[in-house]
Amino acid sequence: MQKSLSERDQAVIWHPYTQMQTAPAPIGIVKGEGALLTDEHGQTYIDATSSWWVNIHGHAHPHITKRLAEQAAVLHHAIFAGYTHEPAVLLAEKLLPVLPGAQARVFYSDNGSTAVEVALKMTIQYWQNQGTPRRKLLAFHDAYHGDTFGAMSVSARSVFTRAFDDYLFEVTFLDLPTAENLPALLRQIDDIAADTGAFIFEPLVLGSGGMIMYDVKAFDALLAHCRSKGILLIADEVMTGFGRTGTNFAMEQLTTPPDMITLSKGLTGGTMAMGVTTCTEAIYEAFLSNDKLKTLFHGHSYTANPFTCAAALASLELFLDPACAQNRRRIAARHQAFGETLRQHSRVKNVRQTGTILAFEVNTGEADSYVNNLADFLHRFFREKRVMLRPLGNTLYILPPYVITDGQLTTVYDCVLDMLEEYGKR
Ligand SMILES: *Cc1c(COP(=O)(O)O)cnc(C)c1O
Repeated sequence: MQKSLSERDQAVIWHPYTQMQTAPAPIGIVKGEGALLTDEHGQTYIDATSSWWVNIHGHAHPHITKRLAEQAAVLHHAIFAGYTHEPAVLLAEKLLPVLPGAQARVFYSDNGSTAVEVALKMTIQYWQNQGTPRRKLLAFHDAYHGDTFGAMSVSARSVFTRAFDDYLFEVTFLDLPTAENLPALLRQIDDIAADTGAFIFEPLVLGSGGMIMYDVKAFDALLAHCRSKGILLIADEVMTGFGRTGTNFAMEQLTTPPDMITLSKGLTGGTMAMGVTTCTEAIYEAFLSNDKLKTLFHGHSYTANPFTCAAALASLELFLDPACAQNRRRIAARHQAFGETLRQHSRVKNVRQTGTILAFEVNTGEADSYVNNLADFLHRFFREKRVMLRPLGNTLYILPPYVITDGQLTTVYDCVLDMLEEYGKR
């Protein structure tokens, strides 16, 4: 008998973030369309988390498919040092003007983590090139910036980094700003400002940290203070970029513009892996010299791959179409109404929303050790109901592709209410 995809997988694959000994067999996906994914048995799943937050226009979008096919007939790859090509140049030309702040240059890489690595390397060398090295970096306590070593270093120390903590460089971690703690935060920064090169942050929403949403006004004041001390501001918009938070980019909701921006997840519409790090002209100019040592020595074999650039261009066209913004407003309004329903629910706490992200915690009423059981219960429940929701600890969030239909959203919401009902009966 022919083995299923799921069985074959279990003989040869090692999955990310997965304890392979205890994890249930993975679901074999064979097809995607809109917000739906179809498994090898013909059952469909509603993708309520945009397949790890990357898919913004729905699966296998015909416009992106068409552009990829056109690109396939022309050029697959070309070395990106000493050579260039239309898709890479055009993408930079289209992207820079829509980004917040005076972003002047695009540096391509392969994913969100590498985009962060590039921003960190730009920061460190920017200060060295000017002959005024600054050694320290600032980040938020619950931050997540990726899984490579530099990105891990500026992320929260957690169970995810435990095995590697001794190998991570030191970073000064800040509490999330509030009206109350702001004066203390600013004093903390004053003490180290002269030796601090950059502050890297996820604007408005800390994603992997648990969809934590924080005070915009206090954050803006924190950014302005860092700017006044010459600390570079790196907005990690890998998750918040491309419309997640209500505006095209989260930094549009703040008055202090960033010096650098990192992008990935939504960049190609969930088609292919790509990272972008942008910076201002001032940062770029600090690397211009007759001295070869002032070069940014960083790159990847697939840097600015033409296919990937073509996918990003096609995705950007869809993103800038007014229909996309209208869909985002529609989802935000639906989220808001469902958020009100959840707020009335006794088994729910901390309901919060930013744009198309709705998050809350399940009120277990028990000690934290219970949380693991809760996560297992949630995974199992949503798998059975064929709704793709993946809790972060005991935080549950809905972060759908913008093309999700009203009917599909209703199914997801109803499924959450069913889950709360079922949980209560345990
Ligand atoms: C996911 C994420 C990253 C890492 O991106 P990968 O493509 O998974 O390496 C970095 N920063 C933020 C804010 C993210 O959400």
